[in-house]
Amino acid sequence: MSDNCIFCKIVRGEIPCRKVYEDDEVFAFHDINPVAPVHFMLIPKLHLASLAEADASHAALLGKMLVLAPQLAKEQGLDNGFRTVINTGKGGGQEVFHLHVHIIGGGNIPPMVK
Ligand code: ADP
Repeated sequence: MSDNCIFCKIVRGEIPCRKVYEDDEVFAFHDINPVAPVHFMLIPKLHLASLAEADASHAALLGKMLVLAPQLAKEQGLDNGFRTVINTGKGGGQEVFHLHVHIIGGGNIPPMVK
């Protein structure tokens, strides 16, 4: 855990959130500024700044998150599919430096690459 990381504070309950899911390794909560009717974040409890800091020791944790994503999406009513986004580093548009998977859906999701 990192003292000043806002997502670590959310995991510790120091900043309120609308929780979607929690277990011993991961946490999910609704985005405060949703870009679609359903928009939540899935994060590891471990403070990992971004995907660029991940190594082989994190493979099981990252795999678990990807397997969990469709389950949580379905629980949130996203029966017709969803988008997953991981922004990495300033060049990737990352603003909160605690690795997170955006899970987005429920609206008109345009193609990202045309
Ligand atoms: P971007 O803002 O470009 O999507 P990130 O990928 O780093 O960059 O995403 C950070 C996300 O965290 C944003 O979607 C933002 O709305 C969300 N966020 C920031 N603070 C909070 C908070 N306290 N509770 C819930 N979501 C938050």
